[in-house]
Amino acid sequence: MATRNFDAVVIGAGPGGYVAAIRLAQLGKKAALVDREELGGVCLNWGCIPSKALIAAANLVDEIRHAGGRGILVGEPRVDIDKLREFKNEVVKKMTGGVGFLEKGNGVEVLKGNARFVSATAIEVDGVGEKIRVEAPAFIVATGGRPIEIPGFKVDGQHVWSAREAVDIPEVPKRLVAIGGGIIGMELGTVYAKLGSQVTFLEALPQVLTGIDPEAVRLVTRGLKPRGTTIHVNARAQGYEARGNELVVKAEVEGKPVEIPCDKVLVAVGFRPSVEGLGLEPLGVKLTPRGFIEVNPAYRTSVPSIYAIGDIAGPPLLAHKASKEGEIAAEAIAGKKSVRDWVALPSGIFTDPEIAVVGLASEEEARQAGHDPVVGKFSFGALGRSVAIAHPEGFVKVIGDRASKLLLGATLCGPDACDLVAEAALALEMGAYLEDVALTIHAHPTLPEAFMEACKAALGEAIHALNRPERPRRAGAGAPASA
Ligand code: NAD
Repeated sequence: MATRNFDAVVIGAGPGGYVAAIRLAQLGKKAALVDREELGGVCLNWGCIPSKALIAAANLVDEIRHAGGRGILVGEPRVDIDKLREFKNEVVKKMTGGVGFLEKGNGVEVLKGNARFVSATAIEVDGVGEKIRVEAPAFIVATGGRPIEIPGFKVDGQHVWSAREAVDIPEVPKRLVAIGGGIIGMELGTVYAKLGSQVTFLEALPQVLTGIDPEAVRLVTRGLKPRGTTIHVNARAQGYEARGNELVVKAEVEGKPVEIPCDKVLVAVGFRPSVEGLGLEPLGVKLTPRGFIEVNPAYRTSVPSIYAIGDIAGPPLLAHKASKEGEIAAEAIAGKKSVRDWVALPSGIFTDPEIAVVGLASEEEARQAGHDPVVGKFSFGALGRSVAIAHPEGFVKVIGDRASKLLLGATLCGPDACDLVAEAALALEMGAYLEDVALTIHAHPTLPEAFMEACKAALGEAIHALNRPERPRRAGAGAPASA
C-alpha cells in the first residue's frame, strides 16, 4: 500500500473541512482534504445552498401569485420542475466547482475516498483507486452529521424523503406530511406549500421552531395557513401504510390518534453526528453523552494529534460555525494562539418571513445571564422600504442591558432578516452599545433602518414609532421609556 505524508489532513469537505484545509495551506502547511463524496458536504450538495435556490424560486412563484395587489396582472404561474431541478443542480455544481478551484489554487491535495484511522497519526483512504495510507502529525475530523431516522419511517426515496431527497424535488406531491417542525421541516415544507402541495406539519413539541421568539413563529405559521397547510403541534408520528394509491400517516396529536392521508412524507427530525466507521473509539477519542466529539476551545480532542470541528463537535449545527471552527483548528495546528472566543454566532431561518437571531434572544435569557434587560422593538410595518416592497410583516427586537446600555442580542423577523442579522452580529462582536447603533446614520430607505430604530426604541428615542412607557415589570422598578 502506498503511503503519503502531509503536515495536516482534513477528513470531510463540508464548510468546516474545506475551509480548514484552505486555512492550513494559507499558513504554509502541506495539507490534504479527504472526502468520499463531492466537495462541499451537506451544505453545498443538499443543504443550505440547494435549499436556498428552491426557496428563492418558491418565493418568486408566490410573489407572482400575489402581484395583483400591485397592479401586475399575470395568470397562475406554472412550474417546470425538471427545469427548476436543473437550475438547482447548476447552482450546486458552480459552488462545489468553486471549492475545488480554491483547494487546488491554495495547493491543497484532494483525496477521494473513505477515511479510517489506523493510528493517531495515520489513516487509510479507501478510494476509487487503490487503498492508500496517509500519515500526518495532525488531523481535523469534519465529517458532519446525517439525518436522524425514526421508527416507522424508513427513508426509501419513494414514499419517505429526508431533506436530501426533498431538495432534489423529484415531484411536487399533492399532499405532503412534514414530520418535524424544525428548521428543515419549516423551510422545505414552505417551499412545497408555495409550489402547490398541501402540507401537514407534525411537530412533537408545543411550538414549531422551538426556541425561537413565539411572536416570530406566529408570523410564520400565520403566513402558512392560507397556503393550504395544517400545523399540528404536540404531535408524534408513529408510522405509515400504503393504502391503494395513497399513504396514510398515523400519528398521535394532543394525545388523540389521527390518520393523515398523503402522497409523500418528509422526515426532518434533526441530525446526528457522523462518527461511525472513522476508527476513533479504539484510539480513545472521547465522545460527549450525545455522541459528539469532545473538544477543547482550540478544537483538539482527547487525542492530541486529532482535532474535530463542525457538526461532529456539537451544536448548534450551522455551516458558518463549522467554517469558523475550521479556521481556529487550522490556526492552532499552525502554532497560532487561536481559540473559540466569538461573541456573536448568528443564525438564520429562511421561512416566510425569515427569522434571524444573534446573541441573547429573549429577556429571560438576558436575566439568566445576570442582566436587567431593556427591550426595543420596531415593526417593519412602519418602515418605508419594507412597505414599498410589499413586505411590511415582521419586526426587529433588540435586547440591551438597562444600566450600561450594552447591546446583548437581536431577533429579526421579516424581509431579508437573514441578511440583516449581519449588522447586529458585527455590533455585538464590536461590543456596541445601543447608542452606537442609534447614532450610526443608516441609508434611507433601507431595511437596516429597522435595526437602528429598534436600538433607538430601547433608549426611548424611536423616531418612526411612539415611545410608550414600559409596562411595570414584575421584578421591580426604574424602567425608562421604551417603544
Ligand atoms: P431540528 O432539530 O431543527 O428540528 C427537528 C424537529 O423535529 C424538532 O422541532 C423536534 O421536536 C421534532 N421532532 C423530533 N422527533 C419528532 C417526531 N417523532 N415527530 C414529530 N416531530 C419530531 O432539525 P432539522 O430541521 O432536521 O435540522 C437539522 C439540523 O440542521 C439542525 O440542527 C439545524 O440547526 C440545521 N439546519 C440549519 C439551517 C439554517 O441555519 N438555516 C437550515 C437547515 C438545517
